[in-house]
Amino acid sequence: MTERIVSVEKDDCTSCNACASNLPRYFQMDEDDLSESHNNGQNLNRAIIPEEDWDAVQNEIDECPGECIHWTKK
Ligand code: SF4
Repeated sequence: MTERIVSVEKDDCTSCNACASNLPRYFQMDEDDLSESHNNGQNLNRAIIPEEDWDAVQNEIDECPGECIHWTKK
C-alpha cells in the first residue's frame, strides 16, 4: 500500500479548529492553538494516513480556510 503523509503549515493555520474537530485521530491543536497532524500522539505533524481515510483527509485539505494542510512526501 502506498503511504501518504499529511502535515500542517502551522504559520498559516487560522486556529479555526475544524480539522481537529472533524478528524481528531489525525489532527490536534497544540499549546499555541495551531493544528498539527499526529497518529495517536506520535508522528507529530507527519501523520501516516491509511488509504481508507485519504478521502476524509482530502476533505479537510479542501475545506481548510488557511489552505495549510498538505500531503507531504516521505
Ligand atoms: S482546518 Fe486549517 S486553519 Fe483550521 S485548524 Fe485545521 S489547519 Fe488550522
